[in-house]
Amino acid sequence: MSKPKLAFFKLSSCAGCQLSVLNIEPVLLDVLGAIDITYFVMAKRSNYHGPYDIGFVEGAVTSPRELEELKNIRRECNLVVAMGTCACFGGIPSIKNFTGMTQRQMEEKVYSELWDIKSIPVQGIDYYIPVDHYLRGCPIDLEEFLTLVKSLLKGVNPHFRFHSVCNECKLNENICLLVNRGKACMGSVTASGCNALCPSLGRECEGCRGPASDCNAESLAKTFSKELGLDKADIVRKFRKYAGNTSEFSKGAGDNE
Ligand code: SF4
Ligand code: SF4
Ligand code: SF4
Repeated sequence: MSKPKLAFFKLSSCAGCQLSVLNIEPVLLDVLGAIDITYFVMAKRSNYHGPYDIGFVEGAVTSPRELEELKNIRRECNLVVAMGTCACFGGIPSIKNFTGMTQRQMEEKVYSELWDIKSIPVQGIDYYIPVDHYLRGCPIDLEEFLTLVKSLLKGVNPHFRFHSVCNECKLNENICLLVNRGKACMGSVTASGCNALCPSLGRECEGCRGPASDCNAESLAKTFSKELGLDKADIVRKFRKYAGNTSEFSKGAGDNE
């Protein structure tokens, strides 16, 4: 029986999620015997055209060229996985959507030669194509990546839970940075899956995994304002840093006010 063909694609991104996958090479060896990594430009010299069984897409869509590329990926892949917060929600590149500038004004700020430049507002990939699975995080969590790959190889859907980071933080018995230290932690509105990485190291959660399933961003925004004294601009920046495109975090940013 032929092995499932995996492909890794990059749109607008920092390549950090692909790099993370490369960093787990020793663990990946576990499953390497069962898969064929057919296309992974960052990792291999020889890459082959589709069709593929599973396509991992890193990065957000920021140009018409990438949109065409994404549509081709969808045609070539049986399953498509949004890999990382850029692909899931637009991620850090989506901050651009809230500058108040036109596309042309932003292009002029970044590029000196404009003849070949055409940008569009930044979106996660499911804005344009159906997506089968999501790996959140900036970068992705490697345990989740392996769970997903192993599940798909067995033909079952992984069951990821997106309750808040606070749940994992409590299980780790951390002192709450929001309540006890007055730090603007986003853990209560952010999806778990990282084992509360940042609060466990004494840093507030920045919301990199996007909204939790029971997200109440408006309430947290009020806490930031009334109890921590953050000004409006700082609160807006916090909710737009990784997932400002989502309806949940846009409420925290006050987009509906
Ligand atoms: S999600 Fe983060 S680490 Fe992954 S590609 Fe985007 S910016 Fe880089
Ligand atoms: S430190 Fe952050 S993640 Fe942990 S319990 Fe407090 S608000 Fe939640
Ligand atoms: S604690 Fe928050 S910012 Fe840190 S990795 Fe987890 S979701 Fe991302």
